[in-house]
Amino acid sequence: MFRIGNRGVLRYTVWDEHAWLAHGFSTRSTGDFLDWPSDREIAGAFGADGCGTAMLRQVHSRAFVRADRPWSQNRPSADAVLTDRPGVIVGVRTADCVPVLLVDPRNRSVAAVHAGWRGTVAGVVPSALEGMVSGYGTRLADIEAVVGPAIGVCCYEVGEEVACQLGEEFVEQRDARPYVDLASAIEAQLVEAGVGRIAIVRECTSCDLGKYFSHRAERGNTGRMLAVAGVRPQGVL
Ligand SMILES: [Zn+2]
Repeated sequence: MFRIGNRGVLRYTVWDEHAWLAHGFSTRSTGDFLDWPSDREIAGAFGADGCGTAMLRQVHSRAFVRADRPWSQNRPSADAVLTDRPGVIVGVRTADCVPVLLVDPRNRSVAAVHAGWRGTVAGVVPSALEGMVSGYGTRLADIEAVVGPAIGVCCYEVGEEVACQLGEEFVEQRDARPYVDLASAIEAQLVEAGVGRIAIVRECTSCDLGKYFSHRAERGNTGRMLAVAGVRPQGVL
């Protein structure tokens, strides 16, 4: 269901059938996106030639923005970015937090969402879904969602003050310490909203430092991965 392709980019094979769609989750071998690369570098890494990017100053909120054009400065403060414009690549950066890509193949619109525990509790994923429905006429049952690589319940120990904000079905107690399963919490939000198709990478960034960057495992001194989606420019297939 997932395949590592060019430049170490992880792709959802089901989306290969959408020739209009550019997408991918970078891995460590793709490069470090902590410093903002140029649109050209991003387009090259993700096979999205001719596209400009629209990314965010991520603030662990439930805010979304719609990108009607690319931008490379004055990035808005938000944690989900949506577009239906050909030639615009939307993306989020993560290193343990959960990147989620949402695709509406019927209306050809997409979203990239950044969800740590705060964003998950705040409902940033349902917020992005509402933004697609209200902005693009998306039907929730048409949406295909991919939950990307993130820190897993194996490694994501949190304090009780965090654990108590997530449903107890997403918290595992081990040696009297709580561990949170963020990907499953997000999956439940997607199911609850009525999203038609959901795929989860289920690889832990903290367990596999050869493949991913991990803020937790590398004690904050690490790079960033990029998850992107976009509608290819018209005429480029
Ligand atoms: Zn792990």
